[in-house]
Amino acid sequence: MLVEETSTDTKGNEEMNAKQVIRNAIPNASDGLCEMIIWGRTGFPCFGDVNAKVIYKAAKRWYRAVSKGNELCEFCDSFAVKNHLCDSCRNALSRCSESVSVQRQAPQPNNPDGF
Ligand SMILES: [Zn+2]
Repeated sequence: MLVEETSTDTKGNEEMNAKQVIRNAIPNASDGLCEMIIWGRTGFPCFGDVNAKVIYKAAKRWYRAVSKGNELCEFCDSFAVKNHLCDSCRNALSRCSESVSVQRQAPQPNNPDGF
């Protein structure tokens, strides 16, 4: 499914584009909000099969969370706790950061990049 285009199926019925799917979940969603849902809350364009059901569920989940005053994590569908991240993703990023800083060493003549 493309973001902007509508198409016609073999029976002549017009299929919905992604923004129309989102507006079924979030009435009157702006173009900007639709873009955020598509690019920020689904795997589009790189990961998985981003179909109408996936887009609708992502939009509905985001809308429900925000309507109740919550924020979703930038990396998953859990509630964000601090700095736009859930505890699990924040801890994982922290572990990656610590791992990189431990591995990095001062540059040596035979290893000028310090890795
Ligand atoms: Zn998360």
